[in-house]
Amino acid sequence: MSTRTGKRTAVIGGGMAGSAAAKKLIASGREVVIYESADGLGGRARSWHRPEIEPNVGINLMYVSFYSLMTELISEYGLESELQKLSSNIYISDKGKAIALSPDSVFSPLTYKHVSLRDRLAFLSTTIKQVRNKSQIDFFDPIKSAPLDDGLSAAQWGYQQLGRRGFDFMLRPQVEGFWNFASEDVSAVHAKGLLAWMGGSGFYVFRNGMQIIAEKNAEGAELRLAHEVTDVQMAGTGLRVTAAREGGDPVTETFDELVLATPAPIAAKLTAALPPEVVGDDARRFMESQRYEPALSVSYLVDVGTLPSEAHIVAGGPGDQPLRNMITYPRKVRDEQGRLVDKLLVFAYPGRANTKRLLGLPQAEQFAAVAPWLKTLWSDFSGRAEPFQIAERPYGFPIPAPGRYRQAVQVMEQQGAPVVLAGDYFNSPTTEAALLSGFRAAEALTQTD
Ligand SMILES: Cc1cc2nc3c(=O)[nH]c(=O)nc-3n(C[C@H](O)[C@H](O)[C@H](O)COP(=O)(O)OP(=O)(O)OC[C@H]3O[C@@H](n4cnc5c(N)ncnc54)[C@H](O)[C@@H]3O)c2cc1C
Repeated sequence: MSTRTGKRTAVIGGGMAGSAAAKKLIASGREVVIYESADGLGGRARSWHRPEIEPNVGINLMYVSFYSLMTELISEYGLESELQKLSSNIYISDKGKAIALSPDSVFSPLTYKHVSLRDRLAFLSTTIKQVRNKSQIDFFDPIKSAPLDDGLSAAQWGYQQLGRRGFDFMLRPQVEGFWNFASEDVSAVHAKGLLAWMGGSGFYVFRNGMQIIAEKNAEGAELRLAHEVTDVQMAGTGLRVTAAREGGDPVTETFDELVLATPAPIAAKLTAALPPEVVGDDARRFMESQRYEPALSVSYLVDVGTLPSEAHIVAGGPGDQPLRNMITYPRKVRDEQGRLVDKLLVFAYPGRANTKRLLGLPQAEQFAAVAPWLKTLWSDFSGRAEPFQIAERPYGFPIPAPGRYRQAVQVMEQQGAPVVLAGDYFNSPTTEAALLSGFRAAEALTQTD
C-alpha cells in the first residue's frame, strides 16, 4: 500500500517514458502532474485514427514478445484481447527485386539464396554466438550491455563477421529497417542485440494503438494536456514550471521534483537555467550530444494484390536509399456507394536524406515525391497509390552511437532528486526501453524517501 510522501512531482512529457515514471511515482505516494504538449498521451507511440477505414487505426507500433516490461503491463491491465498478431512477411529488396525471408527460426538464414553459402553459414554462427550471450546483450538495459559497447560501430563489427554482401543484405537491413539510421553510426551492441533477440519472436500491434499503455500508466496523475512546458527555474528548494496553452494564458506551478521525459534536445533546453548541483555536467553533456534521425511516415491506400499484405519490405544494400522501408496492413475502406472494399494501407518511410529534405513541406509535395519510390522496393508495383495520411516525427529515432551505452550508465548512476531524466535515448529506440528508463528515473527519485 502506498504511503503519502507529501511530495509533488511534475513529469514533463507524457510518452512511454514519462507515463512509466508517473506510474511508479504515484505508487510511491506522490502527487504527480503530467505536462504534455500534444492533446493526448503516448508521444511517438501514439497512433492516428481515421473514420474512413476499418480498423480505423493508423500508425501502429509493434510490441515484440520479448518486451518483458510491456508484457507485464499488458497482463496487469488485462489488455491481452487488444493484441493482434502480425504475420512476419519480411522481404529484403535488392534494387526493387524483393527476396522473402522467413525469420521464424535462427536456422532460416541458411535458406537465403540471395547471399553466398559462406555468408549464410557465417550469419548462422554469428547469430548462435549472440543468442548464447543473450543475457548480457540486453537490448533495453544499458547497464547490462555497456561492457560490450567497445567503440565499434555495427558496420565495422558486421563486416568483420560477414562478407560485404552478407552484411549489406542480411544484417544491415535488420539494423536499419526498423529505424532509419546508418549502421556506420550506431554501436555494434545494437546489431548484436538484434541477432540475439529477434529470431523466433512474435510481433503484435494493439487494436486501437499502443497509447493505451501510457494512458493506463498515467491513471491517478493529474493531466495537463496541450500544455507545452517553456521554462523551468529554481524557486527556493522547489522548481517552477511554466507551460504555454493554445488560446490561454501560460500557467506556472511549483513542484518538489521533476522528471524530464521529453526528447534529449528539448530536455537540454528546458534545463538550461538549472545549476550544476541539480543537473550535473555529465547529464548536460549527454543530453546535448544526442542526435536523432527524424521519421516521416507517408501512407497510401492501394488495391489488394498490388503489394503483399502484412509485409515489411526493407531496402538492402549499403548507403542511403530513396525509400528505406514500407509496411502494409489490410484495411476496409468505404467506397462512394458506402460499401466496404478491401484495400492495403501502405506506410512508406523515405531514406535519411529524403526524410530530411521532405520534412515540413506541404503534404501534397510529400505524397507526390514518395509515391514513385514504392517501385524502388517492389519493382512490380503498378497500382495507384492514393494519398491518405502523413505523420512527422522530427525527433524520430535517437542514434545509439558507439560508446553511448557506457555514457548512459554513467548518467543513470548519478541521477537523483530533485531533477531526473528519462527517455529512449538512454537505451534503444523502442517503447520497452522508454518504459525501463521511466521506471529507473522514478527509482532515482524515490530511493531517498
Ligand atoms: C515512426 C516510428 C516507428 C516506431 N516503431 C516502433 C515500434 O514498432 N515498436 C517500438 O517498440 N518502438 C517503435 N518506435 C520507437 C518508440 O516510439 C519510441 O522509442 C518511444 O515511444 C519513445 O518514448 P519516450 O517517452 O522516450 O519519448 P516520446 O514518445 O517522444 O515522448 C516525449 C513526450 O514529450 C512531449 N513533449 C515534448 N516537448 C514537450 C514540452 N516542451 N512540454 C510538454 N511535453 C513535451 C512529446 O509530445 C511526447 O509526448 C518507433 C518510433 C517512430 C518514430
